[in-house]
Amino acid sequence: CGIVGYVGHQAALPVVVEALRRMEYRGYDSSGVAVLDGSGASRVEKKEGKLANLEAALDSAGHDSFPGTTGIGHTRWATHGRPSDRNAHPHVSGDVAIVHNGIIENFAPLRAELEAAGVELVSDTDSEVAAHLLMCEMASGPHAGDFVASCRAVLNRLEGAFTLVFSHAAHPGTLVAARRSTPLVLGVGKGEMFLGSDVAAFIEHTREAVELGQDNVVVLRADGYEITDLAGEPTEGRPFHIDWDL
Ligand code: GLU
Repeated sequence: CGIVGYVGHQAALPVVVEALRRMEYRGYDSSGVAVLDGSGASRVEKKEGKLANLEAALDSAGHDSFPGTTGIGHTRWATHGRPSDRNAHPHVSGDVAIVHNGIIENFAPLRAELEAAGVELVSDTDSEVAAHLLMCEMASGPHAGDFVASCRAVLNRLEGAFTLVFSHAAHPGTLVAARRSTPLVLGVGKGEMFLGSDVAAFIEHTREAVELGQDNVVVLRADGYEITDLAGEPTEGRPFHIDWDL
């Protein structure tokens, strides 16, 4: 399974799909992408099976219908909910789209809480709760409207193992990502930033990388990034130069 993210100046869709292809060797049963168009909307496509199924769906929708320079992508190895289009990632709630690798161990009480609040969950995954929790935080949490603080508030409620990437259509130039017990590497380009489960996701674009530490949260924008802990205190990942070829 694998995670990718892109914020920059290129069209995001081909960058994200190519990165997913380079993550294929990790194994997966479904794949999906979300692209933020920059004017408040996002487009999601996801398919069970091989990446070729996703690409066929993108072809038939027309790549032009996925404009934008911010995108996220996912290859899934199902743990909760069988492989299906519906259970594939990204998961969406209002303006929020998220991708997740790992297991959110406390998804059941979170799911019950959301359902009690009237939220309709559409998948059988443990992951979907993260999308709805962020939508709720952005709407009415203590940091409502603050994308980064709202992401941190959600992350502080999750137990288990995760690499998570959060996007919000009203914040198209920003991605927020975090990791606990699963991998996440940042690729630092010129006017563009990349996320990957490993450097294979972006090695053709940049050789400057930062390995995120346990419980680190990274905020990416085209022109830079910030790493904090879950409390929002600045911290540093481990920068390294990729001086090998894959
Ligand atoms: N637990 C999540 C799911 O089943 C993510 C699995 C993965 O790591 O791809 O959808």
